Amino acid sequence: MSSVIPIRSDNATGCQDAPVLIERGQREVFCGLTGIIWLHRKIQDAFFLVVGSRTCAHLIQSAAGVMIFAEPRFGTAIIDERDLAGLADCNDELDKVVGQLLQRRPDIKLLFLVGSCPSEVIKLDLSRAAERLTRQYLPSVRVLNYSGSGIETTFTQGEDACLASLAPTLPQRSDGATRLLVVGTLADVVEDQLGQLLKAMGVAVDFFPPRRSTQLPAIGPGTRFLLAQPFLADTARALESKGAQHLGAPFPLGAEGTTAWLQAAATAFSVDPALFEQVTRAPRQRAEQALSRQRALLQGKRIFFFPDSQLEIPLARFLHREMGMELVEVGTPYLHRNHMAAELAWLPAGTRLSEGQDVEKQLDRCLADQPDMVVCGLGLANPLEAQGLTTKWAIELVFTPIQGYEQAGDLAGLFSRPLTRRLKLVA
Ligand code: SF4
Repeated sequence: MSSVIPIRSDNATGCQDAPVLIERGQREVFCGLTGIIWLHRKIQDAFFLVVGSRTCAHLIQSAAGVMIFAEPRFGTAIIDERDLAGLADCNDELDKVVGQLLQRRPDIKLLFLVGSCPSEVIKLDLSRAAERLTRQYLPSVRVLNYSGSGIETTFTQGEDACLASLAPTLPQRSDGATRLLVVGTLADVVEDQLGQLLKAMGVAVDFFPPRRSTQLPAIGPGTRFLLAQPFLADTARALESKGAQHLGAPFPLGAEGTTAWLQAAATAFSVDPALFEQVTRAPRQRAEQALSRQRALLQGKRIFFFPDSQLEIPLARFLHREMGMELVEVGTPYLHRNHMAAELAWLPAGTRLSEGQDVEKQLDRCLADQPDMVVCGLGLANPLEAQGLTTKWAIELVFTPIQGYEQAGDLAGLFSRPLTRRLKLVA
């Protein structure tokens, strides 16, 4: 069963108040366990213990690849048939696995119990397990839990759920100091670049998540936060409940997006416009030059986004405004109108926006539209390529450093390369 419920409203600026095609049919997305792949690289003293099935273990193992030189910081406690049949006490089993793990790995300071479809099916209460284990292992190890289950989620929600579980543990700042918090996992190189620009403007900045769980930033009413990723609705709510205030901005993709994102911080922290210009001019020009080299390939090409990573709207804005691409359809798994307000205002009026998915209907629309490029999940890419369409895997855009000035050219390259490859194949 599926349904399509169009919401109608008057058009305001760009697509800010545009009608959205809402679909609630069959979806083709990865589950939230996928977030472990980039989260375990970021928080270097954390371990992610999936409480799930062999399928969950296979997903993580194959997506993360094999680590040869380092012990992995993720694993799966397998729920087997005895557990599913209610013949074993899963809590006893879990306590045993955690005990063995922490004894063998004293480097772990933060342990996430990650729920899955099987743990939810047998209603294993991981929040109580996390509380029990935290009591047992604090102060050396804190145990938290979140769900990475594939039921009703898309894969980037795993990071949101993880950070939302970590946010309540952030120390409360009582000195009233005004600081900026950048929220969302960024590659270390991107974090360093953005941090240097902000510090050069005199903005005191922290990043969440931090590289080590022992360096959690303190927050309070003086905290202003900027989202670096567009899929963190629950995390933002958790931070707001501790007094932090969200700064609305486009996301730091492309030269223009990065400038606007930095500008939101500069405005909130009363940075002198001359200093802002002085700090951003050289990297912005480098980004603009890198983009101009790729514009000829992308200009005028028609692109169709299936809903997958939740990065679709900021990417569409970048590709349209800075690379001259035409937007055929921009699908997103969820539309957070508040976090997306600045992005929607920058989309051209009349863009076909869709939220959620009814995959067969969307495939029909895509095949009828015959776009030059399709951004979609892995499961749809091969069938669409077989139909002669050029595709880009959405997940690659989450795994690759794409934010900030220095990565703008690489971001454009992720879209121009498949087109070049297609041109060579047909030549
Ligand atoms: S959490 Fe669910 S969807 Fe994800 S791998 Fe495990 S069983 Fe599959």
